[in-house]
Amino acid sequence: MSEQTYLLPAEKVRAMAEAIVRAMGAGAGRAGIVADHLVTANLYGHDSHGVGMLPKYVAGYRAGLLRPAQELRIVSDLGAALVCDGGMGLGQVMGREAMRRGIEAARRHGVAVISLRNAFHLGRIGTYAEQCAEAGLASMHYVNVNYIAPLVAPWGGRDARFGTNPFAAALPMPGEDPIVLDMATSRTALGKVRVARNRGERFMAGALIDARGEPSDDPEVMFSEPMGAILPFGEHKGHALAMICELFAGALTGGETYRPERRHPAAIQNNMLSVLLTPEAVGGEAYAEEARRFRAWVKASPPAAGADRVMMPGEPERRSAEARRREGLPIDARTLAELAGAAAEIGAEWPEGLPRG
Ligand code: NAD
Repeated sequence: MSEQTYLLPAEKVRAMAEAIVRAMGAGAGRAGIVADHLVTANLYGHDSHGVGMLPKYVAGYRAGLLRPAQELRIVSDLGAALVCDGGMGLGQVMGREAMRRGIEAARRHGVAVISLRNAFHLGRIGTYAEQCAEAGLASMHYVNVNYIAPLVAPWGGRDARFGTNPFAAALPMPGEDPIVLDMATSRTALGKVRVARNRGERFMAGALIDARGEPSDDPEVMFSEPMGAILPFGEHKGHALAMICELFAGALTGGETYRPERRHPAAIQNNMLSVLLTPEAVGGEAYAEEARRFRAWVKASPPAAGADRVMMPGEPERRSAEARRREGLPIDARTLAELAGAAAEIGAEWPEGLPRG
């Protein structure tokens, strides 16, 4: 049965998110960073990484695993290579601070590599690519996931062995929006399966297998025990990229690759390896002109059946944000009820007029 979905003003949803993060003991600045991040994910159409994540954060906080007051710790600083430990602090705050330092380092040295290990959920990874692009830097970000139940089956396997290991990259375009790739290396993010389950919908074919390793379109396979698995995107190639994300983020940073013995129902840990490039330092003095020429050539391809135009990565998110700012954020009753429950558990004020599911 399909649940009711409300269309809610972004500002009201943001106020609710900020109140929940503040009630976990984070100051206004930190709570604002997390609330902006989550609401932007909703605006961009990534409800999987929007405010619907907050009940998980509250569970992590109540279990003593998420530490909202944690500061970023610098483990080593070689100038162009910086190793940071997030100490299971708010991922959005740790990620933003690590990138701020990385941007400074890349401005000084031309390029910078930032290892961020042991942060609580970093959320939508494109955020960090956009932060670098705003500063005029191109960047790449490799991420792995720990503590959660394994979600993704390796290509050729029948059960889940690792997380949805996202990869993001962005190219700044002076005077325009950046080109932003931001994707899970699985066929879908788990949150999208959660959204489908909460809305009572079937899930797209070819994305999930059940606990026996057989194809399924039932989102419940990811929320029952024994659990099924999500398949990698792009068959063996997605699997191969997921392996690189796991090893760059989990091993090269000095963090950890997926460890089944760390599994905990109330925690999500991310590690991230980021490479920040100043265009001039890598020979890109005229890159924007070259990028515009290529983009125009690609976009001139006649639209295929069912498509209205060719887009660059990052465009679907901006289109979604335009529409959702106008029409409101679609949030289903089950997600709202989970949020209202989490808010009540930690004594966060619920904004007046916001439905409780
Ligand atoms: P997606 O499949 O919706 O989009 C992937 C990329 O494809 C985006 O860059 C998008 O701009 C581009 N794209 C989509 N349609 C396009 C089109 N028609 N033309 C051109 N480009 C197009 O994203 P996803 O894989 O579902 O990931 C969702 C989010 O989940 C991301 O923000 C990711 O960072 C996040 N995530 C986070 C974690 C974590 O542990 N923190 C784990 C997994 C995913």
